[in-house]
Amino acid sequence: MDASEERVEERARILIVGGGFGGLFTALSLSGAGDVTLVSNEDHYLHTPLLYEYLSGEVEAWHIAPKYPELLDDGVNCIQDKVTDIDVEARSIKLSGRTEPLTYDVLVVALGGVTNYAGVGGAEENSIPFRKLRQADRLRQTMVEALDHVPPDLPPQDVQRALTFAVVGAGASGVELSTKMADLLRDAFKRRALRGEPRVLVIEMGDRVVPGMGDEIREYVEDALLKSHVEVHTLTRVIRVSPNSLTIEHENRQTEIHAAAVVWTGGVRVNPVVERLKVDKNRRGLIMVEPTLQTRAHKNVFALGDIAFYPAATPTLAGTAQLAFQQAALVADNVNAFLSGGELKTKHFEELGEAVSLGTERAAVLAGGKAFGGPLARQARFALYTSRLPTWHHRLRVGASWFFEGTTPRPLLPLGIQR
Ligand SMILES: Cc1cc2nc3c(=O)[nH]c(=O)nc-3n(C[C@H](O)[C@H](O)[C@H](O)COP(=O)(O)OP(=O)(O)OC[C@H]3O[C@@H](n4cnc5c(N)ncnc54)[C@H](O)[C@@H]3O)c2cc1C
Repeated sequence: MDASEERVEERARILIVGGGFGGLFTALSLSGAGDVTLVSNEDHYLHTPLLYEYLSGEVEAWHIAPKYPELLDDGVNCIQDKVTDIDVEARSIKLSGRTEPLTYDVLVVALGGVTNYAGVGGAEENSIPFRKLRQADRLRQTMVEALDHVPPDLPPQDVQRALTFAVVGAGASGVELSTKMADLLRDAFKRRALRGEPRVLVIEMGDRVVPGMGDEIREYVEDALLKSHVEVHTLTRVIRVSPNSLTIEHENRQTEIHAAAVVWTGGVRVNPVVERLKVDKNRRGLIMVEPTLQTRAHKNVFALGDIAFYPAATPTLAGTAQLAFQQAALVADNVNAFLSGGELKTKHFEELGEAVSLGTERAAVLAGGKAFGGPLARQARFALYTSRLPTWHHRLRVGASWFFEGTTPRPLLPLGIQR
């Protein structure tokens, strides 16, 4: 079906499900283009690349997780609810908080991914995922509580046992998180005059860290892991997570390690609603989309971001905000073209560069084929992500706040004296 074959109402009902990089940026571009509704299970957008800086207190919640009404104007109706089912034949979606389904003329699916525990026993129950603001809050709280339980006169080996943290997966997320945690903990050791050192481990199944990234940037990552005293275990598999420990296997030898927390950044799988969705998918469960980002059998259904397999993109872009953000502009153009009977466009998406946070003092940036690191890269990364925040208004407020108030980390002070 296309717009010419079918009567589309004067104000077409455009439904966007998911309010992250793909959904929010599509909604911003489509504002007023019809009866536009954005459905998200959260009340805020989340600029995920800066979630590590939120953990460390370098940025605040309002900087990276503005509420939707602050970003969207009257041209988009916003519903906070959980999508439980999508029926592409009936052109409707079900929400957990409403008995009546919502119907649409055009649907944009941007539900993103969820943490993939890969069937590891106890992982879902006993580890902390790191994809949401509240999960970063929970991790920070766990670190503070673990520190609070350590008396200053405890011998170094006992301190280290009590303050061992494991991060599963040494992709970009795992290295960004482990270096940030290690720097925060070492700072807390000094402030609290604890003896010895904390222990932060990163566990990776593959033979190297940041396997998806080029060698130029890996050098900076490896150097930062060393400087932050993160213990890297490659070719090592996590086989079980228990309430206070994890069991790892390396060269057929299993070791149980006591841990104050295990953080799971070991993978992403498609949203369960998409798993149930009856459209063409590839072996990984990603929706197969045309180069116009339409689904194959339902031309009024568009899909983008982490849940879509889009062949016309540099492979390293799969599962990135960069890709979802670029696709959102194409989806918005194509929804407009679809509704007006115009020609839909296609686009090849290229890698825009890479920027990884490496602890509280450093970062590494790859731009124009050249990599650089250190405090300058940290500033460049902040500038880059400020420019990618949604809406001019929000960007200006955040930019001004960082310029005048700075981005100094918030130390892990004892619970009673948190600022
Ligand atoms: C900690 C972290 C750091 C990252 N850093 C980077 C980076 O530096 N660079 C980079 O390129 N990529 C990064 N990524 C990846 C990037 O965040 C994703 O690729 C990007 O967000 C994908 O966009 P999306 O729209 O597909 O999904 P998301 O941005 O995840 O958005 C999905 C939206 O759907 C909503 N939702 C989910 N389920 C439901 C439901 N049932 N009902 C209603 N709403 C629902 C969610 O709340 C969310 O608003 C990072 C990811 C994480 C977790």
